[in-house]
Amino acid sequence: MRRFGTPCRYSAGERVYETGKPTPGLLVVLSGTIRVTGRDGHGHDFPVVDHVAGAFSGELGQLSGRRSLVDAVAVGGVEALLINPEQLHALLIAEAALGEKIMRALILRRVALIETGTGGPVLVGAASSGDVARLRNFLSRNGIPHMLLDPAGDPDARAFVERYAPRAEDLPLAVCPDGSVLRNPSENALAKCIGMLDASGADRVYDVAVAGAGPAGLATAVYAASEGLSVLVIDARSYGGQAGASARIENYLGFPTGISGQALAGRAYSQAQKFGASMLIPAEVVRLDCERAADGGPFALRLADGLAVRSRAVVIATGARYRRPDCANLKAMEGRGVWYWASPIEAKMCAGQEVVLVGGGNSAGQAAVFLAAHAAKVWMLVRAADLAASMSKYLIDRIAGIANIELRTRTEISCLSGPRESGLESVTWRHRDTKQEETRPIRHVFLFLGADPITEWLKDCDVAVDDKGFVKTGNGSGQPLETSVPGVFAIGDVRAGSVKRVGGAIGEGAAAVAQIHAFLARPGATAAQA
Ligand SMILES: Cc1cc2nc3c(=O)[nH]c(=O)nc-3n(C[C@H](O)[C@H](O)[C@H](O)COP(=O)(O)OP(=O)(O)OC[C@H]3O[C@@H](n4cnc5c(N)ncnc54)[C@H](O)[C@@H]3O)c2cc1C
Repeated sequence: MRRFGTPCRYSAGERVYETGKPTPGLLVVLSGTIRVTGRDGHGHDFPVVDHVAGAFSGELGQLSGRRSLVDAVAVGGVEALLINPEQLHALLIAEAALGEKIMRALILRRVALIETGTGGPVLVGAASSGDVARLRNFLSRNGIPHMLLDPAGDPDARAFVERYAPRAEDLPLAVCPDGSVLRNPSENALAKCIGMLDASGADRVYDVAVAGAGPAGLATAVYAASEGLSVLVIDARSYGGQAGASARIENYLGFPTGISGQALAGRAYSQAQKFGASMLIPAEVVRLDCERAADGGPFALRLADGLAVRSRAVVIATGARYRRPDCANLKAMEGRGVWYWASPIEAKMCAGQEVVLVGGGNSAGQAAVFLAAHAAKVWMLVRAADLAASMSKYLIDRIAGIANIELRTRTEISCLSGPRESGLESVTWRHRDTKQEETRPIRHVFLFLGADPITEWLKDCDVAVDDKGFVKTGNGSGQPLETSVPGVFAIGDVRAGSVKRVGGAIGEGAAAVAQIHAFLARPGATAAQA
């Protein structure tokens, strides 16, 4: 390992890592001991591990130079080998057997930190609150450890709320690792305070910028980075895309018992970073600027916060957005009882209660089966006369065999009621032929109505789309995934004619890389440096 690192020393008692602060990199202990401790939600320290000679410090964040999730001090004098993120990527690739062991350790350590909630933000608020669910979902989907303190059962949390959140709308509070307190923050504000957006990528020209970190974008990141291209992946919300919201993907090749979308995406996310891909999450691309590219300069992707990142080629992998039914009070109840996915967090919230699920596609079917294992009853509403035209036969059979799923055909959801503060209290649905309405006291509605392509950000760049807004590819350049703009590629659900499956998205993400190489080798392709 010596050829990948730089020798360094720490004197007795010297701080090596500090929670919430940037880390120098992974440390291989040559002599002495590095003592690692965590902080619980109440600010008390607890022991994590002592790294002695021959052991190494670090977890997944070391792949990308993220802020530390733990504290560490030198016990006695310490001699160590410092391996910074770039050196770590080189080591993982050059030394496959050793790299596998290190990668496994980094992943398992992050999992342990997530399980104990060590090092990330502490949320203070009611477990049943919609805003708590919103923030927990965001953190979980991004693999960030966090802890929830509910004032209902925790006197310290109650005292904290009295001090920092005099008004109900200030809740939940988020206490960041640096001690700052945010009141009912947006996902973006929370991301900033925990260092997710430390590296903006604005200072260089990447070979490829990928908009969207769903399965398609992550596949491009893994293949492009492993083939030596510099890659930046940007996602508005979290890695995994729609697949990250899937409780169980049963038809992805090689996983006979199924795999949760979050687990699949988490592996791809780590894999892409292992090969050196940079991640900018959460950051929304609001505009693609193609003007300079037409003159041989790089493309610019404008972000919602005003920054721009530049690249020689662009991959559109922004997937699709959930459709919303025409239903009174929907907007007000989103995140307050109305959900567009069904993860274990939502399943726990509706345990033992009746829920409504709207939609008749395969994802609706999977969610109904998943929720039925937790909820007292799942009312499944579909507009069609049956499920045959929209759902796979195996799912129809499975649903028919589950006693607590009640299917209502020719039925649409018509009204959601409840106060904004505490959320949904009752749901009304209507039969499309008889117009007869039924209202039940239900606090959770799951909407699985399919999705429309996300392409608004492309309008200034004249990327050709079809009549439904999906991006057209195969422009005659011989590259089947290239759009009407040379150097701009489209993959996955956003692409016209794509199969709308995880396997298809990943295949296209991989295939795009060979076509990007071909584009970059073309005379007149954007220059390596701006
Ligand atoms: C609940 C559910 C269950 C499913 N189950 C299965 C299954 O069992 N098997 C199967 O094969 N398929 C399944 N699918 C379909 C599968 O998930 C999709 O086909 C796949 O995720 C498409 O991948 P993608 O990368 O093209 O797009 P997406 O997964 O949609 O990812 C797009 C990403 O782009 C980001 N983004 C969008 N706009 C912007 C912007 N302007 N700036 C930055 N980022 C942006 C989004 O945040 C998102 O992360 C399921 C889908 C859902 C919703």
